Amino acid sequence: MTTPSARLLIVGPQGSGKGTQGARIAAALGIPAISTGDMFRAAIAGKTPLGLQVQEVIDAGDLVPDELTSAVVRERLSETDAAGGFLLDGYPRNLGQVSDLDAFLTDRDEELTSVIELSVPRDESIARLTLRAQQQGRTDDTEEIIANRLRIYERETAPILDVYRERNIVDAIDGVGTLDDITSRVISALQARGLSADAVR
Ligand code: ADP
Repeated sequence: MTTPSARLLIVGPQGSGKGTQGARIAAALGIPAISTGDMFRAAIAGKTPLGLQVQEVIDAGDLVPDELTSAVVRERLSETDAAGGFLLDGYPRNLGQVSDLDAFLTDRDEELTSVIELSVPRDESIARLTLRAQQQGRTDDTEEIIANRLRIYERETAPILDVYRERNIVDAIDGVGTLDDITSRVISALQARGLSADAVR
C-alpha cells in the first residue's frame, strides 16, 4: 500500500517552536522541511541577488512582498524532492499567499493534507525569543523588531487559519511541553488524517 503524500503547513507565532517541530516532523515523514525564513537568511548570507533584495525588509521585521516570496516557494516546491510531499514553515503568511499557494497546488492537482497550528501563550513565546536572541544573534531578534513581527502575525497571519479551518484541515496542537511530547502530539494528529503509522514515527 502506498502512503499518501503529506503536504503540510506549520503555522504559529514567533517563538512557538514551529521551525524546530517542522524539521522533526518532516524528518519523521521523509519529506523536506521548507522554511521561507531560512531560505531568505541563506540568500542574505550568500549575498545573492535575492538576499540583497530582501535584507532590509527582513531586518525591519516586515514581510517580503508576496510576488517575490511566492515565486521563491513555487520554485522550491518544483524541485524533485518535494514531489512526494513537503512541510512548509513560514508560508503562507497572509491571505494573498494563501491564494498563490492554492493556485499552484490546483495546477498540479494537489491539495494540502494538514495545517498544523502550534499554540503557545504569549509570555512563553517571548521568553523563547529572548533566549534565541542571546544564543543565535539573529538581526531581527531585537525587542522592537520582535514586537513588529508579532503584530504582523496577529494582523496578517492568524486570519489564514480561518480559511483553512473552513476546509477542516487544521490540527490545533498545544505547543507547551517537551520537544518529544509536542512532536508526538503532531504525529498523532497526522495519523488521524491517514498518514500511515510506518511512515510516521
Ligand atoms: P519568524 O517566524 O520568527 O518571524 P521566519 O524565519 O519565519 O521567522 O521569518 C523571518 C523573516 O523572513 C520574516 O520576518 C519576514 O521578513 C521574512 N519572511 C519569511 N517568510 C515570509 C513570507 N511567507 N512572506 C513574507 N516574508 C517572509
